[in-house]
Amino acid sequence: MNKFAELGLSKPIVDILDEAGFVEPTPVQNAAIELILNGKDVLASAQTGSGKTAAFALPIIEKLAKPGDKPRALVLVPTRELALQVTTQFKLFGRNKKLKVVTLYGGVGFDAQLRALRGKIDVIVATPGRLNDCLERRCADLRNVEITVLDEADRLMDLGFMPQVRRIIDRVPADAQTVMFSATIDQRVTRIANEFATDPVIVKINPERVDSSSIDQKFMHVHEFKKDALLIELLSEFNADSVLVFTRTKRKAGWVKDRLRDASVVAEEIHGDLSQSQRERTLKKYRAGEVAVLVATDVAARGLDIPAISHVVNYDLPDSPSDYVHRIGRTGRAGRSGTAVSFISDEQRHLVRDIEKIVGRQLDPSLKAGAGGAKMAVGAGRPGARPGGRRFGGRGRRR
Ligand code: AMP
Repeated sequence: MNKFAELGLSKPIVDILDEAGFVEPTPVQNAAIELILNGKDVLASAQTGSGKTAAFALPIIEKLAKPGDKPRALVLVPTRELALQVTTQFKLFGRNKKLKVVTLYGGVGFDAQLRALRGKIDVIVATPGRLNDCLERRCADLRNVEITVLDEADRLMDLGFMPQVRRIIDRVPADAQTVMFSATIDQRVTRIANEFATDPVIVKINPERVDSSSIDQKFMHVHEFKKDALLIELLSEFNADSVLVFTRTKRKAGWVKDRLRDASVVAEEIHGDLSQSQRERTLKKYRAGEVAVLVATDVAARGLDIPAISHVVNYDLPDSPSDYVHRIGRTGRAGRSGTAVSFISDEQRHLVRDIEKIVGRQLDPSLKAGAGGAKMAVGAGRPGARPGGRRFGGRGRRR
């Protein structure tokens, strides 16, 4: 059974997740979806990038079932950007149900938002200031709200927002379900959460460990056209049972997998273009150790928890440092050590600086010397290098 279906989500939603390439629920989704479906008030710790939006959007969409007239779900967010992101996810996941989402935020004229409020609405996603203004103008009706979400609750609980948030919550029926997602859960957050919710279930998810002490991180400067050879050489050096290779695009994932197979490496690809059953089959083989190298895109590998993964290779660097952290966090799990190797081209040097900032230490010594400095160019792959490792060649097995 599909892992999302096991959490209680029905086919129309599971189908969309499948299309979007979501393979496994992230930890916060695993912990929160069922609780929310069961009507519990929840206070969950979750950082941006943890999949928290889907953790509340999916059960809400499941609960709303059919489109209605008046808003039945309210999501409060601290910023306009977050309001737009949350709306995008609601629209994506709610596509099959045709739910109507209205987004309210400040800094723009009222007209379009007021017009939207006059129509049928299922979900309001709003920043507190603008929603308050709409309430004062008597243009928004929260009397039918069944579930309220405070996203980035710790920020919403900042002094500046609190009076507005309180006024809004006062307009929501007292028996509505309340769920809160917060980057931190400290005494203050817990105290205010108890004011808004009834006995909330507290879900603490340990943030993805960025603790680099268990992950040996290396950068390698390499020309684009030499990446395949370098990868094959490295795999032979690692001689590992479970390696995860990241590419930027689905096509590249297929390409790299083919090059690895040409070199007799037992490799598979995983990305959003494959069907759910294909992805599940591939993951099963990978988990069982039948596939040595999995070539993946970011979406497909999010949430993967396979302790045996000993090496992550960033064949292409991701665009954002947080994706880098997610990627390398697939190794060094369950108390084991891991190795992450990232290929970089000259144009991508600036990304390395951003990554170093988030990881909190210098990872690429060559950057210290500045633009003209010595490169740590590590063997860009000897032409014709053949892997000789146990799982990489040797047996001459092609798949
Ligand atoms: P968020 O933490 O809600 O900002 O989500 C971060 C990103 O992860 C979004 O782009 C989501 O589309 C994506 N995402 C969330 N859950 C999953 C999942 N289970 N599998 C793959 N991607 C996911």
